[in-house]
Amino acid sequence: MPRWSKEILIGFVPVLLIFLAYIGVNIIPLIIATLLVGGLLFMASVRGGLAVGAGTERKRKKRGPKKLTFEEIGGQDHAKQELMEALDFLIKHEEIRKLGIRPLKGILLTGPPGTGKTLMAKAAAHYTDSVFVASSGSEFVEMYVGVGAGRVRELFREARNRAVKENKQSAIIFIDEIDVIGGKREGGQQREYDQTLNQLLTEMDGIYSSDSPRILLIAATNRKEMLDSALLRPGRFDRHIQVDLPDKKGREHILRLHAKNKPLKTDVDLGKIAEESFGFSGAQLESVMNEAAIYAMREGLKEIEQKHLSMSIDKVMMGERTDRESTLEEKKRVAIHELGHAIMAELVRPGSVSQVALSPRGKALGYVRHNPTQEQYLYTKTFLEEQIMIALGGAASEEIFYGGRSTGSSNDFEQALNIVQTMMKSGLTSLGIVDLDMVTKEELMKENTAILEDLMTRTRTMLEERRTIYEQSLDILLKEETLSGDQFRRLFREHSQLPA
Ligand code: ATP
Repeated sequence: MPRWSKEILIGFVPVLLIFLAYIGVNIIPLIIATLLVGGLLFMASVRGGLAVGAGTERKRKKRGPKKLTFEEIGGQDHAKQELMEALDFLIKHEEIRKLGIRPLKGILLTGPPGTGKTLMAKAAAHYTDSVFVASSGSEFVEMYVGVGAGRVRELFREARNRAVKENKQSAIIFIDEIDVIGGKREGGQQREYDQTLNQLLTEMDGIYSSDSPRILLIAATNRKEMLDSALLRPGRFDRHIQVDLPDKKGREHILRLHAKNKPLKTDVDLGKIAEESFGFSGAQLESVMNEAAIYAMREGLKEIEQKHLSMSIDKVMMGERTDRESTLEEKKRVAIHELGHAIMAELVRPGSVSQVALSPRGKALGYVRHNPTQEQYLYTKTFLEEQIMIALGGAASEEIFYGGRSTGSSNDFEQALNIVQTMMKSGLTSLGIVDLDMVTKEELMKENTAILEDLMTRTRTMLEERRTIYEQSLDILLKEETLSGDQFRRLFREHSQLPA
């Protein structure tokens, strides 16, 4: 029945009843009949609605969400390999039982956010043909004692029931942010957390290889050191798999995966984008591809170009461009500051500057994007000192050209101080090998100042010798707002008084 006819009916019936009463007809039986018919119609419509809803839900469940495979996870070759090997325990359960090997109960995935831990757990479910039940540590946190523990029980029950219902031999339970419930127990206050964790341990202890369906728990955290040792002991989460930030090859792979459903111009070089997106997680790379497509759409283009990808790296790294309009004098100062970082970077790590930009993004008024020529996991004292010099380059430039610094260097100094602290912790300073808690604040301050002042003097001297590079680059930067790495290197080589 069309909606309007229902409304007309609702308006018409009372009018009719009043009219009949007015001319002396007994309307009470009529009212009762109307109410009965109305009630019946209402109930039928509610049931019909529910039935339609349930139908769509059933259809959705039948089709199910698209199954994710390991091929759709970029990089992480080592982690994927390790995980697949561990999952073979679930698949080859007969062989395992014959050899008397105890079942694998838990796998812990550790690593920074957005590196694909959830994807790995989903792919694991597909690989082992298991049902997948996901949850997050924060879902178990409740004010009331016992509720979290009840939810853990419910989670395991749901996994078993679903496996039976869907006729599967196994179920994978995924708990993200396990540190929320599995943090170290320090006694005292945390009764609710303790109960939840205890329940989880009890459920894990209740997993047997002869069970059908077999249960495997996969948990993820980026703070493994926070976890209670009871969780980490053999027989519980005894496989720990590190899911790290991807290296250049991994980044390119992830970009390619997320480019599959996007039209790219033929000359787009994803290898270069992978190079420029050093330190990005899988989630950030996905965002780079997505933002690039949005930029292309904004320009009314049908294909994504290299410049869109480059722009979206900046956006993901620094935030959206802001409309802050600064004066020419301020812009000039920012340009001098950024060129200081760039020149220092090119001096100590040739070929590493990827872009110098003068556009305000997030809190920054300008920035230099670095692109390390090789990825490194171990740092020498010289490397760290050079890193500090790149950070101090901005303030040193301002001193050279303006005779003083500005507030624009606060982030750089924070970075420099962090590096000094790393050096101290690693025994790379004149303090020797020390426990920082045992050194007085005065001693620390003295060492900090000595290191930073020495490096500042060295930075200033090196920059003074390259004054001419500033003049040329400054003009372009003020006009164009960006200077690509190659453009900057050309100017650097042309105007460097010393051999580059
Ligand atoms: P968190 O610790 O924050 O929960 P996570 O490590 O579980 O993060 P995921 O949820 O798996 O990260 O990843 C988020 C999104 O990032 C994915 O949906 C995917 O689009 C993208 N992504 C992350 N890592 C990869 C990867 N290795 N390959 C392809 N896409 C990835």
